[in-house]
Amino acid sequence: MNLDQNQVVRTHNPDLEGLIKLSELDKIIGQLTDVIQCEIPGHIKALEDDFVRDQTKLRKFDEEMAALTKRKKSLEAEVDDTKSKIAKANQKLPEVKTNVEYRAIMKETENFKQRITTIEDEQLALMEKMEDKEGERPAIEKQVAEDKAKLDKLKAEKTVELNSYNESLDKANAERASIIGAINPAILATYDKVRAQRAGTGLARVKDGSCMACFQIITPQLYYQIRTTDEIYRCPHCDRFLYHVPEPKPDNGEPAKGKRKKQE
Ligand SMILES: [Zn+2]
Repeated sequence: MNLDQNQVVRTHNPDLEGLIKLSELDKIIGQLTDVIQCEIPGHIKALEDDFVRDQTKLRKFDEEMAALTKRKKSLEAEVDDTKSKIAKANQKLPEVKTNVEYRAIMKETENFKQRITTIEDEQLALMEKMEDKEGERPAIEKQVAEDKAKLDKLKAEKTVELNSYNESLDKANAERASIIGAINPAILATYDKVRAQRAGTGLARVKDGSCMACFQIITPQLYYQIRTTDEIYRCPHCDRFLYHVPEPKPDNGEPAKGKRKKQE
């Protein structure tokens, strides 16, 4: 949040000084905005997705169990129905007059009995399947409860964090509003336009003859002018405003001044 690191930059151009402060502040505003709008919501969304996924798993499990239960009931009803058909067929037997009639009833009864055997096999398999499946439910239920607890905890934490980030962002925006008043409106408009087009930065440092934002080499003449005059120049490749920070020279303990070192 503080601009101390930029106070080593000495320029006699107040617009450029303003842009340097502004650029640093815009970097901070950009980072805060990213955290507030993308990072934190993304983090919450990831846990929400886990929660929804496991909730869906539980719902599908219950739907599947309901379908199996429905099938079980339908088979039970069919067994009852078939048994009553057998009973009715048996009731007809005393009135049978011919062998053909008798054999027809016996055949019919036999078919009903076979159907019951088939149903009983399916019922057995169904019950085994339901027993096995029922054992899976507690683990899924537990996972859903854990997801919910994690999500609630994260949301509570992130709400506190968000409040703090929003406060910082408000402060940074207020600081920005106070800085821009001191910058030439035309320069500011260009800076904002380039910043919008160029990944949020409208100003770049020049080092060793290159723009440190687009990493393209600028002409030696432009590099010289940037170091020796107080005019504001722009990168011919990315349009950003350019500034130069003299490298500190440890041999004499003084920062090298671009103005004095014209041979560089
Ligand atoms: Zn550039």
